[in-house]
Amino acid sequence: MEKSQIERIKREIADKTLFETAQTAAYGYLDGMFERHVYPAEQDLELLRVFDEELGENGCDPQTILHTLAACAAPNTVQQTGGRYFGFVNGGALPVCLAVKWMADVWDQNAVLNVASPAAAKIEDVCRKWLVDLFGLPQGTAAGFVTGSSIASFSALAAARNYQLKQAGWDIQKRGLFSAPFGKIYLSEEAHATIFKSLSMLGFGEDSIVRLPSDSQGRIALSEVPDDIQPCSIFVLQAGNVNTGAFDDIEALCKLAKEHGCWVHIDGAFGLWAAASARLKPSLRGMELADSWSVDAHKTLNVPYDCGIVLCRDESALVSAMRASGGYIIHSAGRDNMNYVPDMSRRARGFELWAALKYLGKSGIEALVDRLHENTLYFARRMEDAGFEVLNAIAFNQLLVACGGDEATRDILKAVQDDRVCWCGGTQWKGRFAVRISVCNWSTTHEDIDRSVASFRWARAVPELP
Ligand SMILES: *Cc1c(COP(=O)(O)O)cnc(C)c1O
Repeated sequence: MEKSQIERIKREIADKTLFETAQTAAYGYLDGMFERHVYPAEQDLELLRVFDEELGENGCDPQTILHTLAACAAPNTVQQTGGRYFGFVNGGALPVCLAVKWMADVWDQNAVLNVASPAAAKIEDVCRKWLVDLFGLPQGTAAGFVTGSSIASFSALAAARNYQLKQAGWDIQKRGLFSAPFGKIYLSEEAHATIFKSLSMLGFGEDSIVRLPSDSQGRIALSEVPDDIQPCSIFVLQAGNVNTGAFDDIEALCKLAKEHGCWVHIDGAFGLWAAASARLKPSLRGMELADSWSVDAHKTLNVPYDCGIVLCRDESALVSAMRASGGYIIHSAGRDNMNYVPDMSRRARGFELWAALKYLGKSGIEALVDRLHENTLYFARRMEDAGFEVLNAIAFNQLLVACGGDEATRDILKAVQDDRVCWCGGTQWKGRFAVRISVCNWSTTHEDIDRSVASFRWARAVPELP
C-alpha cells in the first residue's frame, strides 16, 4: 500500500462517514423489520445480478461498496429477525446482542488464546460457568464456543471417540483410527444430518453406525435397542427432534448406555434450552448423566449467527482431542479458548452470548423458552381450527402440518411461500410430506401467527379460484 492510501484509510476511520453510512442503512433495515415481506420478491432477486462481475483491476470506493450492498443485497435477505419466519430452526437476534456484536466487531478480537484477548477468554469462561449452572450439568464441565451445533457435535464426538479408544488401550494420537478396536455408534434413525456428517469426518463408516428405530414422534423406541451393546461404543441421543421437537427418553437411554460403558452425547441444538424451563425440564430428565452435549445459542436463545457450544463432562477428553501445539503458541494459566475447539483463530462470539444471558437472566430465558412453546401450541390450535391436520404432539417449538395428500400440502406450501407473509419449509415425516413450522423468534406474537394462518387459509383456497 502507498503511504497516501494508508493516510486515506486512516481518514476514513477518523471522519466516521463510512460507519455513518452503514449505520443509516442498518437503521433503515431495523425500521422495516417487523413489516417487511419475509422473503424477497422476484423483482428484487433480479438485483443480485449486480454481483455477477469480474474482480476489478482497481479497487472500489468504500461508499459505493456499502451502497451496493444496501441496495442489492439487503432486499434479498430473508426476514428471519422478524416474527413470521418459521423456516428451518432459525432464531432471531435480540437487539442487545446485535448492539454488542456491532461494538465488539470494532474490537476485532481473536479468541484464540488468553494472551491474544484476555477479555474474550474471560467472557468465555463466565459463559461456561453460567451455562453449566443453567443446564444443571456436573461442575467442571468444559465448554468450547463454536460456529454451531455441527461443529459442537463434531468436537464432542472426537472427544468421545478418542476417550473410548483410550479406555480400550488404543492410543489414537499415536496409532490413528485404522484397525482401531472401536465398537459401534448407536443413534436414532432420526438423528440430525450433521451427526452423520460429523461421524463421517471422524472416520466412521456406515458399518459402525447402528440406526435405532423411532416411535411415532421420532423418539428412539426403547424396545428396539439391541441387548448386545458392544464395548467401546458411543450413544447419540436427541433433545429436540428437528421435525417434531420430541425428546428421546434420555434418562432410560443414558442408564442403559452407561451399563455398557458407552459414551453418551446429546444433540440438543435447540432443545437443550428446555432445561431452563420448569415446565419443560422433565423432558430432559437424566440429561446430566450424559458425557457431552451440543447446543446452539443462535436458535432458541436468539443470539445472532454464528454461536454454538460444545459441553463436555471430562475436560481432559475434550482438550486432548482438540490439542494443537507449535513453538509460537503461548499458553497461559487462565483459559485458552483454542484448547476446546477445532479451530485456532476465531471471532470472539462469546460477547453476544454473554450479553443474551446477562440481559435475560434465568427467569428471562425461562420466559423465552415458555413463550416459544406457548406460541407453538397456539399455532397448532389455530391450524387445526382452520381444518389443517397437525401431525405431531407439540413437545416444544416444532409443528408439522398437512392438508390432505402430499400434492395438496405441497401446493399449499408453495402458495404460502409465494404469498411471503410468512415462510416455512417442508419435510418428509414418516412417509408423508409435511409443512414444517419452527417457532424460534422472541418477537413472534399471536397476531403474527394469525396472519400466517390466514395465509395458509388463503393458499388452500387458491386452487379453487377460477
Ligand atoms: C440445527 C441443528 C443442528 C445443526 O446445528 P447448526 O447450528 O446448524 O450447525 C444439529 N442438530 C439439530 C437437532 C438441529 O436442530
